[in-house]
Amino acid sequence: MFNKRSIQDLALAGKRALVRVDFNVPLKDGTITDDTRIRAALPTIQYLLEHDASVVLMSHLGRPKGVDASQSLAPIAVRLSELLGKNVAFAKDCVGAEVEAQAQALQAGQVLLLENLRFHKEEEKNDPDFAKQLAKLGDVYVLDAFGSAHRAHASVEAVAHFLPAAAGLLMAKEINFLGKVLSDPSRPLIAILGGAKISDKLPVINNLIPLVDKLIIGGGMANTFLAAAGYEMGKSLVEKDAIEQARELLARCSGKLMLPIDLMIADGFSNDANHEVVTVGGIKPGWMALDIGPHTIEQYRKALEGARMVVWNGPMGVFEMPNFATGTNAVAHAVADSGAISVVGGGDSVAAIEMAGLTARVTHISTGGGASLEFLEGKMLPGVAVLPEK
Ligand code: AMP
Repeated sequence: MFNKRSIQDLALAGKRALVRVDFNVPLKDGTITDDTRIRAALPTIQYLLEHDASVVLMSHLGRPKGVDASQSLAPIAVRLSELLGKNVAFAKDCVGAEVEAQAQALQAGQVLLLENLRFHKEEEKNDPDFAKQLAKLGDVYVLDAFGSAHRAHASVEAVAHFLPAAAGLLMAKEINFLGKVLSDPSRPLIAILGGAKISDKLPVINNLIPLVDKLIIGGGMANTFLAAAGYEMGKSLVEKDAIEQARELLARCSGKLMLPIDLMIADGFSNDANHEVVTVGGIKPGWMALDIGPHTIEQYRKALEGARMVVWNGPMGVFEMPNFATGTNAVAHAVADSGAISVVGGGDSVAAIEMAGLTARVTHISTGGGASLEFLEGKMLPGVAVLPEK
C-alpha cells in the first residue's frame, strides 16, 4: 500500500507548489519528438491548479555539461502551454534572484517552468545549498518525477528536507502498482524478464524469485541460462562470467523458471541474415539465437493465460529487427490478452506495447525504466525514502 503523503493530503489553496517533474523528453533540432512524459505530469499539474495553488515546475533534460542552449527546456514550456490550454511562463535559470522574483509574483492558477536543473553541476551532487535555493521557489515540494526517483539528486532528495514534501499523482500511481507486485500481488503472479544481459537483471531475478509463481525468461539473457544448462550456444550472446550464477539459479529454482524450448537463430546479427527455428539443442556452429521460437511463444502464452498479475521488463529478442521481433510482439499480445493486472516497465517493453497498439490494454505502463527496475530489485529509491508517511 502507498502510505506516503500525497498532494491529496496537502492544503494547497494560495500555496506555491514546487514540483519536480520528469520532462526529459527526446528533442530533435529543438522539436519534441515524443511528449509522453509531459502528458504523464498533467494530472498532478491540473490537480494543483484546480486546488488554487500556483505551480513552479523543474526538471532535468539530457546530460548537459554546464549551460547548453540545445538542452534548454524552453520548447517544453510551449508544448505544455498547448496541453494545459494556458500560458506557461519560462524562467531562464532554476535558481537566483530573478527566478525567485518570478516565483514570488505567481498568482493562484499560474504556472512557471524553470530552466534545465542540470545546467548546475550541484544538481547531480545532491548539494544542500543548491537544494535550499530551489526550496525558496515554493511553499510545498511535490515529487512527481518517478523516472528520476532512483537518483539522489538535489531536486529529488535534498530539496525535500527544506519544504513540506508530498508525492504527486503519477509518483503515487507508480509506487502503488509496483508496490502491489512486491507486497500484495494477485496470484498467480508471473514476471517476464528479457533484454540483452543477465548480469543487469540478476538483482531483480534474485528479488523476484521468492515472490513470483513463475518467472519467464527471454532475450539474450536466456542464452546464458541455456549455456548454464549445458546447451551449445554457437555465436549467441552469452555472458561467460554469469554462467555460474545462472547455474546456481537453475539448481535452486528450476521449478519457477521458464526458459525457451526453441529459438529463432540467424547466421549474422542483421535483419537480413539467414534465419530458422531450431530446438534449444540445435543451434548450428557459427549461428546465434536472436529470438524465442514458436513453441516457446505458445508455452509462454499458455502460462500467461492463467496469470492474475503480470510484470514485464525487457524484450524477448532483438525486436528492433522485424525478423526477430515476433517473440516480443507475441508476449505483448499475451500480456494484454491475459486479463491479468499488468505492469510493464523498461523502454523496450513499453515500446513493444506501443508498437503493437496495446497501450490501453495494459493496466500500468511505468514512466521510469531504471527506477522501476531498481524498485523491483527491492531497493529503496531515494525519492521515495525522502517522502514523509501520511
Ligand atoms: P536491456 O537493455 O538489457 O533490456 O536489453 C535490450 C536489448 O536486448 C535490445 O536492444 C535487444 O535488441 C537486445 N536483445 C534481446 N534479445 C537478444 C539476443 N537474443 N541477442 C542479442 N541481443 C538481444
